Amino acid sequence: MTTSDSLFARSKKVSPGGVHSPVRAFKGVGGTPRFMTGGAGAYIRDVDGREIVDYCMAFGPLILGHGNAAVKKAAIEAIERGWSLGTAEPYSLALAEFITARIPWVESIRFVTSGTEAVMSALRVARGATKRDVILKFDGCYHGHADSMLIRSGSGLAEATEPDSAGIDKGTLGGTLVAPLDDEDALNAIFAKRGGEIAAVIIEPLPANYGLLPQRLEFLKHVAALCRKHGALLILDEVISGFRLGFTGAAGLYGIEPDLVTYGKVIGGGFPVGAYGGKREYMELVAPVGPVYQAGTLSANPVAMCAGLAALEQLADGNVYAQLERLGVELEQQLGAIPGLTVQRVGSLFWPLLVANAAPLRSLPDLKAKAGKPFGPVFHKLLDAGIYLAPSAFEVGFLSAAHTSAHVAQLATELRNALTAAT
Ligand code: PMP
Repeated sequence: MTTSDSLFARSKKVSPGGVHSPVRAFKGVGGTPRFMTGGAGAYIRDVDGREIVDYCMAFGPLILGHGNAAVKKAAIEAIERGWSLGTAEPYSLALAEFITARIPWVESIRFVTSGTEAVMSALRVARGATKRDVILKFDGCYHGHADSMLIRSGSGLAEATEPDSAGIDKGTLGGTLVAPLDDEDALNAIFAKRGGEIAAVIIEPLPANYGLLPQRLEFLKHVAALCRKHGALLILDEVISGFRLGFTGAAGLYGIEPDLVTYGKVIGGGFPVGAYGGKREYMELVAPVGPVYQAGTLSANPVAMCAGLAALEQLADGNVYAQLERLGVELEQQLGAIPGLTVQRVGSLFWPLLVANAAPLRSLPDLKAKAGKPFGPVFHKLLDAGIYLAPSAFEVGFLSAAHTSAHVAQLATELRNALTAAT
């Protein structure tokens, strides 16, 4: 019995499945989740003191690697001043000014504590603004676990069958329409029938919760155009892509301006932060100015705000993104040369898929048509070799500024070995 085995056995007695978020339980790969105690740079440390190269990076927030010095300093200084105030304070102001000065479509921003909360709030604003009820989402896009979004989503649910969750009333789900990705005709048909009822279309501009499914730019532009035509708001969910594909996220990369945008992960430097923002006319509908209520005891927590600003300050000049793109290209070339493997990549996000020559995959039907090798054995072989990928075939990998060419070369070697062993 390993140390993780015994901790997991104890943990299962006191928490559902022994974890506090489902994908951490290794259901997608089998075996016992490895208990981790800390991390430094590109490495995460397990409970037995083993240093493992981390490509999960806390599922995205740690774009600068574990233990970034400036983020750590900012957080410690904030703790020394006082870690929760429940008042107006200058720290969220500094972060809000930093962001609104650099992202033109974010004229106003509200900080919350998770991506889920950001999405839930943005949807409420959209309903309040349009006085319509229906939200359109896409098959395979995950937007957190707000009731109305738990339908045909991804992430920990990527392997589940419908419905995504028990405990959601039919009325709520009745207000959510689901369209396939990469399919203009299907979208046109939905809008032709229901266009006048749709408050908002929400999309991950780079879907990254059911593998990585980069969309055609024309498709994204079509989504935006249909929203304009029918008076629906366009919400880009940039919880993963925001401040990762560039400071201005996927919106900036693809040149698509949202009405509202949601952030999480990188924005908090690894602390619990989410945010929603957008055009002033919509954000001024939020309480206390307007009639859309949204609040939070721990919203804009000073430690998280200072950590987030310290992270974003290191990203704003774009050098980190250029470095990550170079490393991403190396990764794509080296993993792409492995027989029996397809890699889809955008910037520092990558998805190794255990199927030969499958690219480009853009939608769930594309994906379901491919029968790959089982991911579990490959995942465990890599872990034995000192490499940690997210524990599911449908989670993407995250490069950080702490990863190097040597790490990527090692990943390619070990992945090749693991695939050979699995044949
Ligand atoms: N939206 C997207 C695109 C996400 O990837 C996630 C989380 N992976 C969420 C929303 C929910 O964020 P959180 O887990 O912080 O609630």
